[in-house]
Amino acid sequence: MNSQIDPKTLSTAPVASLPAGGEHETDVIVVGAGPVGLFAIFELGLLDLKCHLVDILDKPGGQCAELYPEKPIYDIPALPYCTGQELTDRLLEQAKPFAPTFHLGQMAESVEKLDDNRWCLTTDEGTRLIAPVIVIAAGGGSFQPKRPPIKGIEEYEEKSVFYAVRRMERFRDRKIVIAGGGDSALDWTVALNDIAKHVTLVHRRDDFRAAPDSVNKMRALVADGKMDFKVGQITNLEGADGELSGVRLKSKEEGEYSIDCDALLPFYGLTMKLGPVAKFGINLHENLIPVDTEKFETDVPGIFAIGDINSYPGKLKLILSGFHEAALMAQAAFRTIHPDKRLRFEYTTSSTNLQKKLGVA
Ligand SMILES: Cc1cc2nc3c(=O)[nH]c(=O)nc-3n(C[C@H](O)[C@H](O)[C@H](O)COP(=O)(O)OP(=O)(O)OC[C@H]3O[C@@H](n4cnc5c(N)ncnc54)[C@H](O)[C@@H]3O)c2cc1C
Repeated sequence: MNSQIDPKTLSTAPVASLPAGGEHETDVIVVGAGPVGLFAIFELGLLDLKCHLVDILDKPGGQCAELYPEKPIYDIPALPYCTGQELTDRLLEQAKPFAPTFHLGQMAESVEKLDDNRWCLTTDEGTRLIAPVIVIAAGGGSFQPKRPPIKGIEEYEEKSVFYAVRRMERFRDRKIVIAGGGDSALDWTVALNDIAKHVTLVHRRDDFRAAPDSVNKMRALVADGKMDFKVGQITNLEGADGELSGVRLKSKEEGEYSIDCDALLPFYGLTMKLGPVAKFGINLHENLIPVDTEKFETDVPGIFAIGDINSYPGKLKLILSGFHEAALMAQAAFRTIHPDKRLRFEYTTSSTNLQKKLGVA
């Protein structure tokens, strides 16, 4: 490890996220808590602009935390080596003085202009965020669950088939089948075991991609007779009007049979889709958002786009490009929010004003 900060001293505690619902006013709404959205908190914070961030994932870090938390990154300036998760933890640490508010596990779904010229962004969970500026840092788009190839599954979705656990209470006293062999499947198998009436984990083989610790916990629960694990593939759903009564399983050893359940949670991985950002009323080009390179503003004044989601001549989809874009966007966002205020250029090294904001002077 070449970096000076010992990663062990970085906080790995889960990031606090506000419960869904309600209305919140802020200076800037950031859509996407990937590395670029997280650095935007810092740049906006230096200019006294407060942020609320929305992300469909249940943790910050975007691609770095979701796709390659343990892979090394070698091209972050002055950080010769760090993993995707370490970079995320460092960005969170750097943003801490500005106390950002996170709305995790929620999809930014629609945007409307209010009479007072501010924006109202509404999430799929009904949270309303109001601010004069929106920054879209949505990367490759929202991570969306892969739908299992089971005929008619759409009819059951959000009634008895769920691709995410937003509220564990929803599964109290229910008979659940969880499908998959990765971290999400195993983590939720263990976590929901105390709440659900019964949990059956289904995976196509007796070998898991998930962390060995969760696999061991699951095996201990099976050994204690507290849950079941079945090898096989779900071929059909049984039930009516969106309410499951069971799933049909096919396995080499045991042939075809049904498992009684009233909820199915398939965790078959995530794909990235542009999703609702396409409906925000912004001009798109090949699923990217064209911006100017002075302010990183879209064709809609007051809505900016930074990071992998934007396009401009010469764009490189690198984290460091997103960091630069965040710095210029913050200056422009300040001018949008405070058109009459003077913006003074200052260095963190020498400005007591900035150091006070950072809590170091
Ligand atoms: C395997 C791999 C290795 C890589 N290695 C490097 C490297 O070495 N160096 C480098 O510079 N780059 C690397 N990259 C690219 C780098 O990860 C991206 O450039 C970077 O993650 C972009 O950051 P971002 O914040 O713009 O977007 P993302 O990291 O994609 O984050 C966007 C976030 O927005 C959320 N989101 C999107 N739409 C919505 C919505 N409507 N509502 C709520 N949330 C939403 C998503 O859930 C996501 O969390 C790598 C990428 C991969 C896949």
